Amino acid sequence: MKKWECTICGYIHEAENPPDECPVCGADSSMFVEVTEQEGSEKTDQVAAEKEQTQETTAPETLLEKATALILQFHLHPITVHTPNGIIPFAFILLILTPVFGIITFETAAFYSLVFVLLNMPVVLFTGYITWQNKYKGPLTSLFKLKIGASIAATSLLTLLVIWRLVQPEVMSTPSSGRIIFILLALLLLAAVGIAGHMGGKLVFGTNKND
Ligand SMILES: [Zn+2]
Repeated sequence: MKKWECTICGYIHEAENPPDECPVCGADSSMFVEVTEQEGSEKTDQVAAEKEQTQETTAPETLLEKATALILQFHLHPITVHTPNGIIPFAFILLILTPVFGIITFETAAFYSLVFVLLNMPVVLFTGYITWQNKYKGPLTSLFKLKIGASIAATSLLTLLVIWRLVQPEVMSTPSSGRIIFILLALLLLAAVGIAGHMGGKLVFGTNKND
């Protein structure tokens, strides 16, 4: 049985031919290379050697290069994505509980949580972009399209909700159709953040390297 490795995400496919589409990242069959056990380890050595060489010969000079090296070295994207992925579900629960218990401080806490996440979004998006461009070489496979789309949707919804709350501070504190729409938009935000996070998890943990 031949082994094929996805050059984007590292997924290993065992069959006579590479799959039409990578089940993990969605890359097409042209992105697969055949590997044998020996070649595989040689390739790994080669990649490691190349990596070492690159690090030696091209010391980061510009601010962007320094930032890129820092982001990749310390895995700043997986770290920073925990802000939206951790706080937005909590903010959503607070929003739901506001009309249920009539406790307006829940709504206030939710609002400040959303503001905090929004302020963090430039870092989340920037580290994500740098990681995509450098670690994965910036392919627009189905996984990345979905992930980028979900991230854009999440940022837009978050911005909309924060602006809405600033313009109409009582939106969540009085029963109205506006309040229902506000909660529905927050639910969409939760879904978008969930999809982006799930795709990231699939990319990082969804490979079959140990098979
Ligand atoms: Zn792949």
